[in-house]
Amino acid sequence: MEDTVGKVITCRAAVAWSVKQPLVIETIEVDPPKAGEVRIQILATGVCRTDAYALDRYDPTKAYPVILGHEGGGIVESVGEGVKSVKPGDHVVPLYYPQCYECKFCRNPKTNFCSKVRATQMKGVMPDGTTRFRCKGKQLFHFMGTSTFSEYTVVAEVSVCKVDTNAPLEKICLLGCSISTGYGAVVNTARVEPGSTCAVWGLGAVGLAVIMGCKKAGATRIIGVDINPDKFATAREFGTTECINPKDYDRPIQEVIAEATNEGCDFAFECIGSVDAMRACIEACHKGWGVSTLLGMTAPGAELTAKPYSIVTGITCNGSVFGGWKSRDSLPKLVDEYMKKEIKVDEFVSFTLTLDKINEGFDLMKSGKSIKSVVIF
Ligand code: NAD
Ligand code: ZN
Repeated sequence: MEDTVGKVITCRAAVAWSVKQPLVIETIEVDPPKAGEVRIQILATGVCRTDAYALDRYDPTKAYPVILGHEGGGIVESVGEGVKSVKPGDHVVPLYYPQCYECKFCRNPKTNFCSKVRATQMKGVMPDGTTRFRCKGKQLFHFMGTSTFSEYTVVAEVSVCKVDTNAPLEKICLLGCSISTGYGAVVNTARVEPGSTCAVWGLGAVGLAVIMGCKKAGATRIIGVDINPDKFATAREFGTTECINPKDYDRPIQEVIAEATNEGCDFAFECIGSVDAMRACIEACHKGWGVSTLLGMTAPGAELTAKPYSIVTGITCNGSVFGGWKSRDSLPKLVDEYMKKEIKVDEFVSFTLTLDKINEGFDLMKSGKSIKSVVIF
């Protein structure tokens, strides 16, 4: 590894040149890490819905060309000046939700938000305002502070954590987003109680992680809701006790669920990114104590409408990003839980692909044929 330290690395990456275009495998240059930064050799990355949104939904705040990807696993190649928490050779997971331990959010136990690199991360640049990637003489922007669709990436030290070297990176990369998001929403955000009735909108990766969490928390009834009935068999394996398709009913699904659950669920989760499903998720909760947790990422500019009476009569509406986990503290523990077989991870991997097949990963996700595709470099 020593021969690359301090030097520009030439490697392959999947580049998003512009919105609504397939990714292109290119040879790129990756600069060495500056002070407070870490350069990582990425060995595996998941393909996530949020990457697809960045590619498919025009968002004026997003910068192109860009290297997408935020569910990665890799090995530290070199570190910049002052980096103490990781060293070359460490196995790591990049974190799109950083943890700096210093900002007002990090000091508040109620949130996992961190403002340290937020402003530059949203602009697709490193904390000093520049980028570390180039291709054909053009600078490439970073994405979510992680950019894992590249053989090498550079992240801020606050955006990475060391994990157990024995954990398979091609599996635990998925703890970098979907699985931790759904599982954390149950244990940190909603705090599902034993014996409760839960409903989960969307039986993709995030929804299945919610189901896994609800089952582990002791929920006795878990209702899965999806418009694709092909998702029901896997959802049952993860723990749903029944599955329903809103297309089978000519009235709002929240009414159907309320009737089937003696006036509503104790806990409901939205894992789609649809404002209509969010409304149904809120209104399917039981008056007085029902808790709805919204996780889906909606299109830019989307607005949510629901009956205020639901909230006034005691339904709680909340949500979380990255499952509410304080990322650098929690991710290594989630990896340990996986290693002790306390949480599922392998069961989420439907396909493993090589980098040149990464666009197939997006197709498999959009056609509903995969839970997760993992790209192995
Ligand atoms: P996915 O595509 O794997 O799953 C979505 C599921 O929803 C699919 O099974 C699909 O058939 C179903 N669906 C679509 N429209 C529906 C409708 N109208 N009614 C019922 N079911 C419907 O996606 P995913 O990876 O599980 O992600 C789910 C959502 O969570 C996305 O919006 C994603 O951006 C978001 N997300 C949020 C966070 C967070 O931190 N809050 C993290 C990761 C992903
Ligand atoms: Zn912080």
